[in-house]
Amino acid sequence: MSSPEPVQSDAGGGAPGGTDGPAWRIGHGYDLHRLEPTAPAGPGRPLVVGGVELDHDRGPVAHSDGDALLHAVTDALLGAIGAPDIGQLFPDDASENEGRGSRDFVREALRWVRACGYEPANLDATVILERPRLSAHKGAIITRLARLLDLPVDRVNVKGKSHERVDAVGEGRAIEVHVVVLLERV
Ligand code: MG
Repeated sequence: MSSPEPVQSDAGGGAPGGTDGPAWRIGHGYDLHRLEPTAPAGPGRPLVVGGVELDHDRGPVAHSDGDALLHAVTDALLGAIGAPDIGQLFPDDASENEGRGSRDFVREALRWVRACGYEPANLDATVILERPRLSAHKGAIITRLARLLDLPVDRVNVKGKSHERVDAVGEGRAIEVHVVVLLERV
């Protein structure tokens, strides 16, 4: 795995952590995982969203623990500083990533962010999951994310959406997540 280091930005202005780096950087992360019946009926892992396990008969098919929200958070953090993405840093054919807890990916992305001289300012996530409904778990997920990112809970937001029963997500065959994160130079 690469070690964190300031990354040259294509957008100009030098490395993000340099003295001429912008005061703010924004990052977007996206992830989707196919949901299959959980063991012993199928290959799905337990459905974990933002580090919180949801009771469901389907779960993600994934090399790691398949936490789509934490994967999107990781890519948003890495994207904001122009670093390699989650698939480049944690290849899904690497044995050390088999069943790996996705909190590790977020922590590593945060190390990259800090090495560039930034801290998360706030994060907003949208989780599109037909069932179970996210509403009962939002508070727990926000608390976990805030702790993971060293942010107060009022700087972390998670929205749950349905896909109106259409397409794979709406038919309960996938979970989809979008995340936007703002970084502040410190
Ligand atoms: Mg993923």
